Amino acid sequence: MDEEIVTLRQMIKSSVKIVVFTGAGISTESGIPDFRGPNGIWKTNTPIDFSDFVASEDIRRESWRRKFSGGDKMATAKPNAGHIAINHLVRLGKVTHIITQNIDGLHHKSGVPEEQIIELHGNANYATCLDCGHRYELEDIKRSFLTDEKIPYCDLCEGIIKQATISFGQAMPVKEMQRAEAATLACDMFIAIGSSLVVYPAAGFPPMAKQNGATLVILNNEATDLDPVADLVIHKQIGPTLSAAVD
Ligand code: NAD
Ligand code: ZN
Repeated sequence: MDEEIVTLRQMIKSSVKIVVFTGAGISTESGIPDFRGPNGIWKTNTPIDFSDFVASEDIRRESWRRKFSGGDKMATAKPNAGHIAINHLVRLGKVTHIITQNIDGLHHKSGVPEEQIIELHGNANYATCLDCGHRYELEDIKRSFLTDEKIPYCDLCEGIIKQATISFGQAMPVKEMQRAEAATLACDMFIAIGSSLVVYPAAGFPPMAKQNGATLVILNNEATDLDPVADLVIHKQIGPTLSAAVD
């Protein structure tokens, strides 16, 4: 076995409270493209800013068009070896929390209990009213949008309905940020997996853990700006690496 994987196994063994922090890279092996990797979505689609979404019906229409064009990969994707290995560590009581930047819900689908998952950027598998927070199912919105491209508004308060994700320019969810900070400060090991670690404030958690005395591991197939501060850096594919580290 690879020396880096042996080191990772030892680190996991000697830790008692591990936080796993994930980015889009953990889900590419489930067929969901990341943003900044070599085959990232941003090579073809620029992101829609929150203020533009709120300001313009045309932009909201464009946003729903993107959501419903082609197959909805997020809705049909299945957890891969990486998600399964992390769930295994949760079941062993090693991992206390998963802080994820992902919006695909795959940690939930892998079997991790709701209360151990902190979604910093929301979830793409449902929608909410921006004013009253009422939840709407995408299937219902999709059916009516595909008929006449009519933009959905809230039945209760006529507010704007938006996919339940945090867009660029949108405020971070307060409760999730607090939970993430508490988990980060309570852990003795922090593993950042599949994130380019450039989206703040999310990318602030790995250095926060390190400064607080935790062991910091970064697993990503390309270098990140935080590699120099980590105790262990592994530039490999996530699924095979984590499977080998936890079996
Ligand atoms: P990112 O796209 O900026 O970075 C992903 C990193 O993972 C890249 O460095 C890439 O090289 C690496 N990577 C990709 N596949 C890998 C693999 N199989 N093994 C090892 N490394 C791999 O992602 P980010 O840091 O999460 O930031 C992007 C933002 O985009 C997040 O805020 C997230 O909300 C959102 N996003 C989410 C999804 C999702 O939910 N699956 C998909 C795209 C974007
Ligand atoms: Zn409403």
